[in-house]
This record gives sequence, structure tokens and C-alpha cells, in this order.
Amino acid sequence: MLSRANNVSISFEVFVSEEIIVPERRASRDSWANWVRLLCGRKPALPAAPPAASPVMGRAWLRIGRDEYMLGVVSEERFLEDEQRQRHEPILMMGMEGHGYWRGYWWFQDRFYWENDRMDGEDVHALLLTRHQRERQRIDRARAMVAMGEEPRMRERGHIPDDVKQLVWIRDQGRCRVCGATSELQFDHVIPVAMGGSSDVQNLQLLCGACNRRKGAGLTLP
Ligand SMILES: [Zn+2]
Repeated sequence: MLSRANNVSISFEVFVSEEIIVPERRASRDSWANWVRLLCGRKPALPAAPPAASPVMGRAWLRIGRDEYMLGVVSEERFLEDEQRQRHEPILMMGMEGHGYWRGYWWFQDRFYWENDRMDGEDVHALLLTRHQRERQRIDRARAMVAMGEEPRMRERGHIPDDVKQLVWIRDQGRCRVCGATSELQFDHVIPVAMGGSSDVQNLQLLCGACNRRKGAGLTLP
């Protein structure tokens, strides 16, 4: 199973020359030394600042909900490379493992996903691409159907006899079937004419204009 993970974000904390640049916070030379000590578990024998020629280093963080996970100490260059790469291929950012348990977090096109099937990058890529395609098709079809419904020819095909209208009106008690409104009422085909829906009482309902438009926008073909 592959799911969108909405509560995930990634960040990179850079230190530049003598200072660590942290969002909303600038650390002094002293705290940089402290930070190195934290990373190494001992007081650094190095000078308090990295050599000027060294690559810009920093820490990559993955935030999942309220939890933060340090992914590693990497160069800024490497981090930016990954950021570029995730636009074209999914990158496994982190795997959580336990007894018979696995959860992998993937980064792809500025979104995050998790899966528990130990997928590889190609699996994730294929799944996400087909998912995007399906979504696109669904939107295109819904738009086409809305456009078709606006053509007079389609209205004729969906012509509703007066006696049917009367029965539907009585059954729905002169109210929108969704919200109960009594104004701007329209006869709506539950299954649209474009999808083969009939003009029988069973396939008709009273909707107010607002509910009808909302329905039109959300329609999908099976
Ligand atoms: Zn309504």
C-alpha cells in the first residue's frame, strides 16, 4: 500500500563559515563548537570554525507530525541534488523497521508518501505515475460531461415529461433533496443522461441550483 503522507516535511540546516544558520536563529561560534561536540561526542580538537574551503555542510531533517528525525549530516550540494532528483524519481528518505514491520517514507515531486511493502523506487514511481494519470483522466471526463450537459441537444435527450415532473415534485415534497432548500429548484438526473440515465421517476430528484452545480463538479464515471 502506498499512501500520501500529508504531515511530512523536510528541511536542511546549514552552517556557513563561522556560524550555523538556523531558521529564526543564528548560533554563535561557541554553539557551533558545542554542536560539533554533540555530533562527535567529544570536544572538538578542531578550530571553532570549519576551513573556508570545505563544502557547506548541514543537517537534513525529516519532520513527521510532531517528531523530527535527523537523516544525516550532508553537504548542501548533496541535499540540493536530492531535491532536484526527487522531481524525476522517488527517493527513499527513511525506513522504519521493527518486528515484521516496515514503513518507508518517499519523497517525490515535492510530496511525501509512505508504504509498508518494502517497495523499490521503480514500484513507487510506477504507482504514482499511474495514479496521477487516473486523476487527470477523471478530471478531463468530468469536465467533458459538464460541457456536454450544457449543450441544448443533451437537454432534449433528457426531456422530462410533465407527469413525471409532478410525481418527482410530490415525492420530494418540493424541496432540494440534499439541503432542503425550496428555491431555484431543478429536476436532476441521478445518473446523468450522458451516462445513460433515464428520465424515470426513480432516476430523477429535486435539487437546488447550488447543490446541482456541486454535484456536477464532483461527478466521476465508474
Ligand atoms: Zn440544495
